[in-house]
Amino acid sequence: MTPLSSRDPASRGLGMTSQRTRDRMVAGLAEAGIRDPRVLEVMRQLPRHLFIDEALASRAYENTALPIGQGQTISQPYIVARMSEALIEHKLPRRVLEIGTGSGYQCAVLARLVEQVYTVERIEELLRNARRRFRKLGLGNIRSRHDDGRLGWPEEAPFDAIIVTAAGAALEPELLAQLAPDGCLVAPVGPAGQQELLRVRAGEDGRISERLGAVSFVPLLGGTG
Ligand code: SAH
Repeated sequence: MTPLSSRDPASRGLGMTSQRTRDRMVAGLAEAGIRDPRVLEVMRQLPRHLFIDEALASRAYENTALPIGQGQTISQPYIVARMSEALIEHKLPRRVLEIGTGSGYQCAVLARLVEQVYTVERIEELLRNARRRFRKLGLGNIRSRHDDGRLGWPEEAPFDAIIVTAAGAALEPELLAQLAPDGCLVAPVGPAGQQELLRVRAGEDGRISERLGAVSFVPLLGGTG
């Protein structure tokens, strides 16, 4: 972990963006059922408040989704934790593809867990902001691209794991095609109000699909913005 800048007073323990506040968030995640110590430790360290607008920073460690502009949201901490945990549960992937960079928070969590993360975002302004955060935090193992993520990142495929952070009507065939044979994909699927988190991974006789519970994500849209 890169230590937080000592110029940031919040990192020294005062206020709503302090380490103590983050510790409380992580205690809440553990109570809610997140078990993986690697995920809990990364989320204990990573400053979520740097991924949202300053005006909302005091709410950064509440277990809630928050607006990040362009009608999009940073996912709720519990969901970030749950998806990260599900993605690395059976085998730690080396190279991960994320669709829907958004604020960059989920991507940053993954970058602290695995060797290399590739992330695709369709809204250029969000991607610009996320890249700035990655630089500020010294996260050098992230490659990002402005594109329609439903197409994946064919030049870099196959991936050991793929995580989709916006909900499509069904699993995208292009993404499944870019998953390594023993890889793991986690994605929300379904229309608003009826979305479910799915995990696809290698079983004994080919791929198996598991339902991980009800979720609420912004829609996976076509094209770029
Ligand atoms: N992982 C993000 C969640 C952001 S919300 C975070 O931690 O903040 C989902 C994001 O998916 C939005 O930024 C939205 O613009 C993006 N998105 C939706 N459809 C997309 C597509 N087809 N390709 C790439 N990104 C997409």
